[in-house]
Amino acid sequence: MITFEITPQPGVSRIQIYKPGRPIEEVQKQFGISEVVKLASNENPLGTSPRAVEAIRKAADQVHLYPDGKSATLAAALAQRFNVQPEQVAVGNGADGLIMELCMAYLDEHSEVVVSRSSFPMYDVFSNVMRARMVKTPLKQYGLDLPAMTGAITERTRLVFVCNPNNPTGTVLSAAEVDAFMRDVPAHVIVVFDEAYFEYAAGPDFPDTIEYVRQGRENVIVLRTFSKAYGLAGLRVGYGFGSPALLAPLKLVKEPFAVNLLAQVAGLAALEDDEFCARSVAVNHEGKAYLYREFERLGLFYVPTSTNFILTRLGPRMLWLVDRLMERGIIIRPGDAYDLPEFARITIGTAEQNRRLIQALETILAES
Ligand SMILES: *Cc1c(COP(=O)(O)O)cnc(C)c1O
Repeated sequence: MITFEITPQPGVSRIQIYKPGRPIEEVQKQFGISEVVKLASNENPLGTSPRAVEAIRKAADQVHLYPDGKSATLAAALAQRFNVQPEQVAVGNGADGLIMELCMAYLDEHSEVVVSRSSFPMYDVFSNVMRARMVKTPLKQYGLDLPAMTGAITERTRLVFVCNPNNPTGTVLSAAEVDAFMRDVPAHVIVVFDEAYFEYAAGPDFPDTIEYVRQGRENVIVLRTFSKAYGLAGLRVGYGFGSPALLAPLKLVKEPFAVNLLAQVAGLAALEDDEFCARSVAVNHEGKAYLYREFERLGLFYVPTSTNFILTRLGPRMLWLVDRLMERGIIIRPGDAYDLPEFARITIGTAEQNRRLIQALETILAES
């Protein structure tokens, strides 16, 4: 008898399984609690842009049609909003989809990828699939160390992922730091600015990285998403800005219909919904101030954040505390998977959700 040994290609065995935040339903079932608060995945606590919901309703009877593989209408609207040419825009199945396409298009087993420790895990997943070598630089005061990242570049480096603000630490790089970095980066390296939390961090000191694209720099791509400030995480739509030459290989490797029809119409409508975005940011700022005060009162160290989540030190009992909170219906994200074993990443919720978190945390800390 012939036996077949079925094995995945070797890149697959390098992947560390990605553990997403536990779904609300799963926790409801396990602990028999109806009111579960999920503060584990940086989702928008206000829900979805109402304009996007309306657009989804209107388009619901169109889903027998394939979507536009180019997402041309959304790309044109993004080009206009951000003052670039439509050819400089890519729309993806989430920003994750664009990260995957970048890795597929630019990496092989001879490539190196420079990332920071304790950054977004999708860079590792897709780089590992392509069998590229990951080169990781240490954190500096919980933020990315750009000079160290420059120092890690070799002639084999193809991609450098700059997560700004950084997930899971919430830290932000200034325009001056990014400018200095861009002066040092050699032309054969593609710099990927992942700005998934841009709307929460925007301000005079935040680097205008799209300006590099407008100036025609060939080795930069800026990634953004509708998942966070616009509340469309469940639909999957993100976008990027880069030179047409840099984006061309992404168009070759992408799934032909990567961005579904509802995601495209919802993204287009959300882009017009400045009111929802502004409200999301405002609620986030209030929640942040409240949580800072409460963490200080409870004697918990946290890293000041430019995002909709806070990295908080829960100490050696972190995993135990995460489980106790879960029993009380509050899901937060343990930091061990991010190389931060004493920390948890806590999404800033509504005022009511934040109060529930603090109440539960205070009770558990008092009992133990
Ligand atoms: C959430 C997140 C993404 C993924 O965004 P999607 O558009 O939902 O795929 C990308 N990068 C970072 C840093 C994120 O936190």
